[in-house]
Amino acid sequence: MVKTTERVSRRHDHSRCIRRAVAAAEEVCSRKEVSLTPLRKRVLEIVWRGHEPIGAYQIMAEIAKDREKVGPPTVYRALEFLQEAGLVHRLDALNAFVGCDHPDVHHAAQFLICSKCHRVAEIEDPGLNRALTERARSLGFRFESGAVEIKTLCDGCAVGLAQPG
Ligand SMILES: [Zn+2]
Ligand SMILES: [Zn+2]
Ligand SMILES: [Zn+2]
Repeated sequence: MVKTTERVSRRHDHSRCIRRAVAAAEEVCSRKEVSLTPLRKRVLEIVWRGHEPIGAYQIMAEIAKDREKVGPPTVYRALEFLQEAGLVHRLDALNAFVGCDHPDVHHAAQFLICSKCHRVAEIEDPGLNRALTERARSLGFRFESGAVEIKTLCDGCAVGLAQPG
């Protein structure tokens, strides 16, 4: 099944997105028999503060607001855990993390990233992934496990370019 993440309207009840993400995380963790510790949960909520990617240092700053300071290794470990559980994706191009809205299905992620405003959209298309993997193999390359990141311009930024000033 091809699933493309729905376009997220700028005005929506985002608290629902966060609740859904936490509930999905709890389910994934109980199935894998690993624990969603308070810190891991907090990091997940911070990543889900919006639909834009967030960097590790920004996450640390957020945590520092509501509890005693945690060091970078602790936060990186929590992020690694969330990544391995498929709950967040790491975007190398931005050195940032974004929540996955369908962690229940194992998938190779593909992202469109706006080079101007850094908005991202996740595409989850097994067909696309298969085509890339096969093409790479025929050329003597192997796919690494990271997400495929495609540089784009979002509609908003493209409009801005077309009408300067
Ligand atoms: Zn939302
Ligand atoms: Zn995903
Ligand atoms: Zn943009």
